[in-house]
Amino acid sequence: MTDRPVRVRFAPSPTGPLHIGGVRTALYNYLLARKLGGKMLLRIEDTDQNRFVPGAEEYILEALAWCGIVIDEGQGVGGPHAPYRQSERKPLYRQYADQLIAEGNGYYAFDTPEELDAMRARLQAAKVPNPQYNAITRTQMRNSLTLPENEVQALLAANTPYVIRLKVPRKEEVRFQDMIRGWVVVHSSAIDDKVLMKSDGMPTYHLANIVDDHLMEISHVIRGEEWLPSAPLHVLLYRYLGWESTMPQFAHLPLLLKPDGTGKLSKRDGDRLGFPVFPLEWHGTDAETGEPTVSRGYREDGYLPDALINFLAFLGWNPGTAQEIFSMEELIEAFSIDRVSKSPAKFDQNKAKWFNEHYLRAKPDAELAPYLLAGLAAHGLHCDPAKAEQIVGVMKERVSFPQDFWQEAKYFFEAPTEYDEAVMAKKWTPAVAAVLVDYGQLIADYAQEAGGEAFPPAEDLKGFLTTVTEEHELKIGQTLQALRVAVTGAAAGPDLFETLAILGPVEVNARLQAAAQGRS
Ligand code: GLU
Repeated sequence: MTDRPVRVRFAPSPTGPLHIGGVRTALYNYLLARKLGGKMLLRIEDTDQNRFVPGAEEYILEALAWCGIVIDEGQGVGGPHAPYRQSERKPLYRQYADQLIAEGNGYYAFDTPEELDAMRARLQAAKVPNPQYNAITRTQMRNSLTLPENEVQALLAANTPYVIRLKVPRKEEVRFQDMIRGWVVVHSSAIDDKVLMKSDGMPTYHLANIVDDHLMEISHVIRGEEWLPSAPLHVLLYRYLGWESTMPQFAHLPLLLKPDGTGKLSKRDGDRLGFPVFPLEWHGTDAETGEPTVSRGYREDGYLPDALINFLAFLGWNPGTAQEIFSMEELIEAFSIDRVSKSPAKFDQNKAKWFNEHYLRAKPDAELAPYLLAGLAAHGLHCDPAKAEQIVGVMKERVSFPQDFWQEAKYFFEAPTEYDEAVMAKKWTPAVAAVLVDYGQLIADYAQEAGGEAFPPAEDLKGFLTTVTEEHELKIGQTLQALRVAVTGAAAGPDLFETLAILGPVEVNARLQAAAQGRS
């Protein structure tokens, strides 16, 4: 079995937008597949038609593509096991349910919803904590284990609605080895007789999932911890279908917790806590009111996919070294299931932002300039792309998200109308004002002599300021903050002389004269 080709799958149900935890599951599958030279499959598990949400499948494909998680085989790509949407595979599952019945591991259950309710009510009245259809209760129900054979045949011949259930043994230990958790042992008395096939002939998740993992030759099942309770049932299914020797290896990923650690990060937490829990923005409908809803997405909030991937990789895994910045290629190289933790991972929004800042800064200015240009265009402003590149170049150390460029860089395009008063009150003295007025004039004259268009470089602008302050018998340090605030309005910003160089001497002079006039 060790030389078996590695084939993993991401098997989401299209019941809504993909949660960020789902993206992490897809990522870990992808990393393992790439690391071990295997294949990554995408299967759409849509057997629960009541929970089907239009647009969810498209969303899943788009989200994976945006994240750079490449599907080798499956929905949207095709492959030898097509179709990869379970609803389109419906006819295929029946034979396996029949096999389970024929071999005594499954049975027909004819109970009506009312009969099932009555059973639960009876058990609740008898203080049974968790009423289930199981090895004990099935003996009192209407199924092919309790009814005489001829009655069963008559019910089937009369097209009486039925489901097919798994016959879970009453007293048996079910054990399997989880790659993250080690041996997992569950007593069969804790497992109920799950429905495998519904009355409309549609398999349930459990049957379809096992049949497909087998037919698609899946070698590793990597999925969220919420599926751990289903795993023993799945092991029984592999056994009863005669597939135990090729059963995939299981790895159940740790839970993702809310930032304060008080429970599982849910789909609703995003809106409540003010950060996205979905990779892309999702336009849905409120289940109660039917009103359209919009849920925030990492993409629209300005996260770069590399940053999101790096962040998610660390929610449950670590490389065992101090290195934190990993490209997808580096993650593939470093990844191993051994280093996936079994303890839950706390979601940390600040860390996500930290990764984003890193990846933003690492991007070439030419790739960032379009973000600023878009912000400008939205405000009816234009800018030469080369100048936009210069601006993002000096601003990128100061922003967390690309859409911040416009906000932070506004003063390159609009003269300040307000000044940071705390700084001005302290630093804008008559002597400093006199220096800055002269300075503005000096650089503007210089530019004019040099042909009007010439922008002195940052060092020269600094040199001029030194000269002028010395003439006034001040020190350059006494004028810098007032200069910054007079030109930009703000007390902090990127390198001052770079800023002045981008603005150009004529504009700097105009702003200095305006500040002096406004405050004299
Ligand atoms: N369809 C299941 C889900 O939505 C897949 C669980 C599994 O990977 O087995 O998560």
